[in-house]
Amino acid sequence: MTHYNWLEAINITEEMVMKTETNRRLPVIWISALDCTGCKEAFTRSFEPTMLDTILNFISLEYSELLSLASGEQIEAHKESIFAEYKGEYILAIEGSIPRRDDFLLIAGKSVREEIRRASRNAKAVIAIGSCSAWGGIPAAGINPTDSVDIKTMIPEDVPLVLVPGCPPIPEAIIGTFLHVHFHGVLPELDKKNRPKIYYQKTVHMTCHRKPFFDQKLFAESYDDEGAKKGYCLFKLGCKGPSAFNACESIGYDRCIAAGFPCIGCSEKGFWDKGGFVARRKK
Ligand code: SF4
Repeated sequence: MTHYNWLEAINITEEMVMKTETNRRLPVIWISALDCTGCKEAFTRSFEPTMLDTILNFISLEYSELLSLASGEQIEAHKESIFAEYKGEYILAIEGSIPRRDDFLLIAGKSVREEIRRASRNAKAVIAIGSCSAWGGIPAAGINPTDSVDIKTMIPEDVPLVLVPGCPPIPEAIIGTFLHVHFHGVLPELDKKNRPKIYYQKTVHMTCHRKPFFDQKLFAESYDDEGAKKGYCLFKLGCKGPSAFNACESIGYDRCIAAGFPCIGCSEKGFWDKGGFVARRKK
């Protein structure tokens, strides 16, 4: 159950919504590099507002290899027309880490890294969706056979950049970032790591619904003990909430911690090299 209010989060009123519904929607080009499509799926799962409300009223998703109805030459030609018609106005959303070896990924026969660099030069801003795009993610972990990098390494330094990390990111954080640009015409305020403060200012721990148990030193020692049944803090089971900056708990989602699994810090840099989806029990 979420107690999130997207109007409050991005500081707009219902009147502003009514007015902008008749305005031009924000053009978005969404390019997928080395990804699992989980971020796109997260985008489709937003409740506040829903993806349908978002794409019908506020943003115009002009290109996505997966979500666009058209494909092949037709969609590639449409992408080129958006580049020309909305120069400096479109948002470039990048999902997945970017391989520097072209034998791993081409888009329409073209190098994905060249395509991203080209598209970024005339974008209003680049929004990196997910931990792969933001930090390099799983393709860049370990021996990194594809020589993958994060988006910051790939685009020119003067291109405005926002990172929305998470594996996947919170759906409302993806959409809220787009909507802030749509309604205010500018990027949301960012922290030192280019993340929107609205969603990444606090650690998961700071707003965790289990924090009263942490403060009383009441911990679950295993996944099926009495403490776990009573909803005690998951710190001893390896919870990374104290060092993970994300809005899962402040948005009030029934995500990992509510399900009884420790936060794995999926929004943090190096998450895959630090254990990925495995929570390490504290000794
Ligand atoms: Fe903090 Fe994790 Fe315990 Fe929540 S479950 S209070 S995030 S240590």
